[in-house]
Amino acid sequence: MIPAAFEYARASSVEEAVKLLKNYGEDAKVLAGGHSLIPLMRLRLAQPSALVDINGIKGLDQIKESGGKLHIGALARHVSIHNSQVVKDKLPLLAEVAAEVGDNQIRNMGTIGGVVAHADAAGDYPTIALMLDADIVTNKRTIAAKDFFKDIFTTPLAADEIVTEIVFPVANGPHKYIKFRRRLFDWAIVGAAAQKMDGGWRIGLTNVGPTPVRAKAVEEALHKGAKPEEAAQHASDGLNPSGDLRASPEYKKHLARVLTKRAIEQAG
Ligand SMILES: Cc1cc2nc3c(=O)[nH]c(=O)nc-3n(C[C@H](O)[C@H](O)[C@H](O)COP(=O)(O)OP(=O)(O)OC[C@H]3O[C@@H](n4cnc5c(N)ncnc54)[C@H](O)[C@@H]3O)c2cc1C
Repeated sequence: MIPAAFEYARASSVEEAVKLLKNYGEDAKVLAGGHSLIPLMRLRLAQPSALVDINGIKGLDQIKESGGKLHIGALARHVSIHNSQVVKDKLPLLAEVAAEVGDNQIRNMGTIGGVVAHADAAGDYPTIALMLDADIVTNKRTIAAKDFFKDIFTTPLAADEIVTEIVFPVANGPHKYIKFRRRLFDWAIVGAAAQKMDGGWRIGLTNVGPTPVRAKAVEEALHKGAKPEEAAQHASDGLNPSGDLRASPEYKKHLARVLTKRAIEQAG
């Protein structure tokens, strides 16, 4: 399929990109890796009047530790996050998650900022951002992850707002992310993440609702001394996932419990 006609401009700074977005108006879209936006445009599910390409903005892909936090530039590709020694040292869970996103082509082009801004319920990084209380930084403000993922494909980003970085806490204790999928490069049917930090557990779930989910009931049960198997039974508390071609709601809830147990047990 061929996308509808659109204008195109390449920005060399965040300021220029914001100016271009303002000039083009509400129908313009940021173009990062293009691996979610272009397929939607080809299917004509998205018909932006203009694309503002941010791939030429120097430094927007920076990965660094600063002030005890891990700063990942919005334009950091999945492959860079996976290969980054800083990420491996400071938040190895994130490096593991990056290795699980799509296939090689997607990992070479797709960006963390794109996944976060797109807010697909099956996106992997949003789960990690939510469960670890990460911050989403834009050209205008800093938004806590818990206030960012409002609904499926819905965030508080304004039309002229660009995600510049995602700031994670440092956590290099036991961790695991497990994605259940039919083929290695598929999106998660359901995903579960476990991270030990600050003496407790953080548990997150992918694709069990319109937004990522933090499984606080599991965290609390673990805190009270429950075994992984007992605690994981709470992973489906309050969930109301919608069914799709790959899994019924009941099966997704079952997966949430099973994968949570495995993630905690395999966290090492
Ligand atoms: C076959 C396939 C399998 C995939 N599997 C997975 C998977 O398993 N897990 C997973 O998480 N993802 C998966 N993806 C998605 C992939 O990770 C995309 O790269 C990602 O969703 C979007 O990132 P992008 O850089 O390509 O963004 P783009 O496609 O360029 O943009 C996506 C949306 O975000 C907006 N946007 C992009 N960057 C910014 C920014 N900095 N500020 C504001 N808005 C911005 C765009 O305007 C657009 O609306 C898959 C994609 C495909 C095609």
